Amino acid sequence: MRGHNYINGQWRDSISEHTFDKHSPANTGDLVGTFPASDARDVEEAVRAARAAFPQWRGMSFIRRAEILDRFVRLVQEDFEELARLMAREGGKVLAESRADVTEGIHMTQYMVGRSRMPYGDVVPSEIAEKDSYMLRKPKGVVAAITPWNFPFAIPMWSIAPSLATGNTVVFKPSSETPGCGQKVAEYLHEAGLPAGVFNMVHGTGDDAGWPLINHPEVDVVVFTGSYGVGSKIKETVARDYRKMVACEMGGKNAIMVFDDANLDLAVNAAVTSAFRTAGQRCSAASRLIVQEGILDRFVERFLAGARRIRVGDPLDERNFMGPVINQGAVDKVLRYNQIARDEGAQVLLDGGRLSGDGYGKGYFMSPFVYLMRHNPTSRVIREEVFGPHVAIIPFKTIEEAIFIHNDVEYGLTFSVITEDYRKARRVREECEFGLGYVNLPCIGAEVQLPFGGLKKSGTGMPSAATLVDVVTHKVAWTVNHDQTIKLAQGLSAEIE
Ligand code: NAD
Repeated sequence: MRGHNYINGQWRDSISEHTFDKHSPANTGDLVGTFPASDARDVEEAVRAARAAFPQWRGMSFIRRAEILDRFVRLVQEDFEELARLMAREGGKVLAESRADVTEGIHMTQYMVGRSRMPYGDVVPSEIAEKDSYMLRKPKGVVAAITPWNFPFAIPMWSIAPSLATGNTVVFKPSSETPGCGQKVAEYLHEAGLPAGVFNMVHGTGDDAGWPLINHPEVDVVVFTGSYGVGSKIKETVARDYRKMVACEMGGKNAIMVFDDANLDLAVNAAVTSAFRTAGQRCSAASRLIVQEGILDRFVERFLAGARRIRVGDPLDERNFMGPVINQGAVDKVLRYNQIARDEGAQVLLDGGRLSGDGYGKGYFMSPFVYLMRHNPTSRVIREEVFGPHVAIIPFKTIEEAIFIHNDVEYGLTFSVITEDYRKARRVREECEFGLGYVNLPCIGAEVQLPFGGLKKSGTGMPSAATLVDVVTHKVAWTVNHDQTIKLAQGLSAEIE
C-alpha cells in the first residue's frame, strides 16, 4: 500500500517528501505500506482546509451530513473483510477481534446517523409564560483527532463520526503503527462524498505531526486517545490555551473482582478473555484479578489451565487466540515488568515471555505471564499499566479489603465484579472508582451507545463514543419572547423609569 495525506479533498505526499515504512508485527519482513512522514507544514495546510470548510459544513442540515456518513458505512460494509485482514496484518490483532473492531466503527457511525433524526436539544421551562426557552447544540469548529494503534478503526470513528455528524470539521492523525487503517478511513470518507476540507488526514509520528496539530491555534477541540504519558503532556499544554477544549482517554490498570460465591466457569472465562484478548493490549484489559481467598485455589487452577490453552500465532490464522504485541518496544516493556514482578517478590505461576522458533521468529510474539502477589501499596508492578499479556492474581479476605485494593491504583477505567450476590455488586459499584463497570462479564466489550471514559489517570472526565457529542458541541441557551413587553425572571423589571 502507498499511503497519502488527505488534505482539502486531495491526496498528497508530505511537503518534505519524507516517508516511513510500516511492517507487520507478526512478520517484520512483511512490508504493509509506505506513508508520508508529515510535519508542521502539512498540519498547517490540513488545519487551514478544515477551518475554511467549517462554515458551509456547519450550515448543512444534520440529516444531510449524516447521509454522507451512511454512505461511508455502506462502503465499509462492502470492504469489511479486506479491512479486517489489513488490520490483523498491520496491528497484529487476530481476525475475530479485527472484525469486531471494524464492526464497532460501523456501529459508532450508524449511531450518529440514527441520532441525526432524533431530538437534538431540549425545550426548557421558563418562569415567564410568554417566553420559550431552548437548549440547542452548536459545533465547536475544528476537531483534532489523535488515536492509538490498538483500535485502528473503532477509535478513529468514536472521534470522527460524532465530530463530523454534529457539524465540526476534522483533522485526523492516525497512529504511525496503523497508518494503513487510517488510510482506509480517509478513502471511504472521500468516496462517500464529503465536501473538500471537511475531513483531513496527516500521517506521521506523534512528535512531528501530532504535536503541531494539538498546538495549532485554529484547532478548537483536541480529542486524544492513547497513553497517560502522552495524554498528560497534551492536556497540560492545550489547557494553557483558554479557547481550546481537550478530551483525553488514556490507560488502565483494570481489575476483575471475584467473590467466593462466584460462578467459577463464568469467572475464569471472563478473566481469560479480559486479560489476554488483543494480547492484553486494550486500555480496558484486566491486569489485576482480585480474588477472594475461599475460591482462590480453584480459580487459580482453572485460570492457569485456560491461560496455558491459549494459542499464540499468526493473527490471520483463525485458530489463534492471541497475535503478537505491537513492536520491539512493547516486548521490552512487558519483559521489564515481568522482571519487576519477580523482583517485587511475586510467586510466578506461568512464566511467559518472548516466543521464538517455529512460526515466531520474525514476529513480536509473547506468551502469558501470570503471578500471585499480595497487594502492596509500594509495588510498581500491580499499579502501573503494562499493556501486554501480563496479569497479577491478588487475594483478598473481605469486601472492604477488595475495594481498597481496587482503588489503590492511579487509574480507573474498567471494572468487573463476579458474584451471585446483588448486594455485593451494588456496594462495589458505589465504592470502586471506574468509568465502565460490569457484573458477571469480562471488563472488555464496550458498546458505542454508552459512555467510554475513565477516572484519575484514565481520562479527563469527558467520555468518548456516544457521549463525545458533549465534547464537540457547545450547548447554547436560546430564549424567545412572544409578548410585546419585556418580562424578566427573578422579578426584575425592564421598564425605564
Ligand atoms: P500513544 O500515547 O503512544 O499514542 C497515541 C497517539 O498519540 C498516536 O497517534 C501517537 O502518534 C500520538 N502521539 C504520540 N506522541 C505525541 C505527541 N507528543 N503529541 C501528539 N500526539 C502524540 O499510545 P498507543 O501506544 O498508540 O496506544 C496505547 C495506549 O493507549 C495505552 O496506554 C492504552 O491504555 C491507551 N488507550 C486508551 C483508550 C481509552 O479509550 N481510554 C483506548 C485505547 C488505548
